[in-house]
Amino acid sequence: MADCLFCRIAAGDLPAYRLYEDAHILAFLDLHPVREGHALVIPKAHHVWFEDLPEDLAARITHCAQDLARAMKRLYGVPRVGMAFTGIHVPHAHAHVVPMHHVHDMTSMAYLGEGLDGFSAPPQLPVETMVEVAERLRAALDRG
Ligand SMILES: [Zn+2]
Repeated sequence: MADCLFCRIAAGDLPAYRLYEDAHILAFLDLHPVREGHALVIPKAHHVWFEDLPEDLAARITHCAQDLARAMKRLYGVPRVGMAFTGIHVPHAHAHVVPMHHVHDMTSMAYLGEGLDGFSAPPQLPVETMVEVAERLRAALDRG
């Protein structure tokens, strides 16, 4: 798509700090890093939502993120690397891969009940609610 920022980067029409690419995917540095090394992995083909990626393409992205995670652990000495598709900012599926120096480097507000120095678990739901949620999600999932 001509007006898609990530399609233009994938096509080489816009510059990026490229980390890896092949015929199907591209990894490059996020211009607004949460932490140094924060990378994005995208499919070269335009897909808006990660859940719409063909399975082999999603696997390529995950595999690249795994290799990046191992490299980030070696390079930055971090205990963990987070990966997330959030669908914010650019409507072209992209996985964030972030070396996590702090437990809140990928965090939801739901974990911040104790403030930035803590890492609180969101409240549990009642058992009957969990049973109902699981039933509804299984039915919606419909994986045979
Ligand atoms: Zn695109």
